[in-house]
Amino acid sequence: MAINMEKGSVSIDAQNIMPVIKRWLYSDQDIFLREVVSNACDAITKHRMKCGTEEEMQVLVTVNKEAGTLTISDTGIGMTADEVRRYINQVAFSGASEFMKQFESDEKKGDIIGHFGLGFYSVFMVSSRVEIETLSSSEGAEAVHWSSEDGMSFELGAGSRTTHGTDIILHISEDAKEFLELYRVREVLNRYCGYMAYPVYLFDANAKPIEREEDIEGTADADGKPLKRKVTEEPKPSLINETAPLWLKKPSECEEKDYIDLYHKLFGWEEPLFWVHLNVDYPFNLKGILFFPKIRNDFGTHEGQVKLFSGQVFVADNVKEVIPEFLMLLKGVIDCPDLPLNVSRSFLQNDGTVRKLSAHITKKVADKLVSLFNTERETYEKYWDDISPFVKFGCMKDQKFYEQVKKALLFKLTDDRFVTLTEYQDANKEKTDKKIFYTNDAKRQAASVAMYTRRGIDVAVMEHLIDGNFLSFLEYSAGEEGVTFARVDADVSGLTEESDEGATLDQAKLADMFRKAVGQEEMPVELAALADSELPAIVTEDEQMRRMKDMYRMYGQDFKMPDRYTLVLNRRNATVQALAARDAEDETTKMLCEQLFDLARMSAKPLEADEITAFLARSQKLVAMAVKAE
Ligand code: ADP
Repeated sequence: MAINMEKGSVSIDAQNIMPVIKRWLYSDQDIFLREVVSNACDAITKHRMKCGTEEEMQVLVTVNKEAGTLTISDTGIGMTADEVRRYINQVAFSGASEFMKQFESDEKKGDIIGHFGLGFYSVFMVSSRVEIETLSSSEGAEAVHWSSEDGMSFELGAGSRTTHGTDIILHISEDAKEFLELYRVREVLNRYCGYMAYPVYLFDANAKPIEREEDIEGTADADGKPLKRKVTEEPKPSLINETAPLWLKKPSECEEKDYIDLYHKLFGWEEPLFWVHLNVDYPFNLKGILFFPKIRNDFGTHEGQVKLFSGQVFVADNVKEVIPEFLMLLKGVIDCPDLPLNVSRSFLQNDGTVRKLSAHITKKVADKLVSLFNTERETYEKYWDDISPFVKFGCMKDQKFYEQVKKALLFKLTDDRFVTLTEYQDANKEKTDKKIFYTNDAKRQAASVAMYTRRGIDVAVMEHLIDGNFLSFLEYSAGEEGVTFARVDADVSGLTEESDEGATLDQAKLADMFRKAVGQEEMPVELAALADSELPAIVTEDEQMRRMKDMYRMYGQDFKMPDRYTLVLNRRNATVQALAARDAEDETTKMLCEQLFDLARMSAKPLEADEITAFLARSQKLVAMAVKAE
């Protein structure tokens, strides 16, 4: 039965929709190639399933700049004339119209993930004419030729293919000439088709044969050199993809080197720290590998990259709806063949499967961290500086993740050891009453830190940008276990000792003396028995007040909250005791008070320029007085 030439119109709606599709998503035009190449792969799969054949099959993309065409050929199942009518004229189009409906309801064009589902009709974004040459692998099928200039009207007739499969011939339009450049087509294929399931080749139809000379073995001329012959090398198609990506293999079949190679291939030269291989078949299909990159302190600007694939077809980078936001700091690949990708983001956000996927990924990442912590603590500690911003961020973003990893949260101490919260509390409980002392600037606060370490109290280093928020988060989240953090200059609770020494000192008199001397009538002054009796005084700044101040500063708020120090005098200290006995009105007493106050402030943080000047001048006077007195 011969196929009679027929003409027709694809659908009535097409009149309205095709022009929109053509104009639409100008910047993302290149997805047409993904659509046709993945259709070609699907056609091969269908043929294999139908015939049970194992024969080598491939997709060939041919650029013919001279002819102005880009042809995508496959050795798949092909289509009968009826199938072309049904699948191309009706189904393919209805897919596109369905797609446009979704598009209409969404505000922005970017709202559609990877712009999946536009399907075959996306070729009209770049073509002035599209031809299909196809031969179905069904018994007795006849070759079909289909052609359309605008995706709205078509011609269908007898075709010329002699083997089963399909050629999609795109006559590239004037404004899409880039798709006749070999490098551009290669780039797009690499991006979207780099891991497709069947070999995808790229061929330059205009490439000239290469002529070169070759030695003829076993011959020699007068000089003893071998004779040459001319050989002509025909241009060959080059393979684009890797058909069996690592993430589809069983983790037990993959070696460390394979993971590192994949990382290098996808993300460049640096080394990943470690990785999680996701491999789930049930209740959903999820494959993937997530790498922990070195994150370090450039966390603020760090951009991870998680590539989303759907059945080996690249969809998009960093699809927030599928991968939890904090995991975006990682790099890697997620492959979810079942994901409904041709839908809007708001749909994905509310989709149950997507939420399960996302929860599963989170859980696997948490499991990996905890298992490393449990079985390879030393290695885990080595990674901690790199991964901690990510882990902390994750805890704050996702309560479940926090619950899963909280046992494996580490705190780096000023002596470079790493401990968990519980380990810290257990080791220090006698002196700290479960408080965790920390520094957020080990250099500037070195003197305060030393007061603790001298007493054998550990000090945690919380210097990262995220730490301020993180410790508030821990106090809040771990509240039931009574976790509080205090910066080394927040109070003296960790520095005092039971003692009667100086218990009878006149607190009111001392307070008055100091307030007057430093000119701060409101300054809180306390007496305490500090463990280190050499230390006359320290200043403290209330933890909560200070955090509020830090927060304002971080958010660039202008108004300056005044410093509000408490002066703590050590009643066990001989100097303080002697001062208490001095005449409050005496000039030297006043100077000594000022001096002690400055010394106390300096241990907490460097003085301002004018304060330093005053301090130096006073120090010189005091030295002179001391020398004279001898
Ligand atoms: P989808 O692939 O989502 O079904 P498309 O618009 O891309 O939508 O394609 C419509 C249909 O046309 C496909 O489902 C398939 O039946 C048929 N088709 C497209 N390309 C090919 C091809 N290369 N070989 C065989 N059939 C094809």
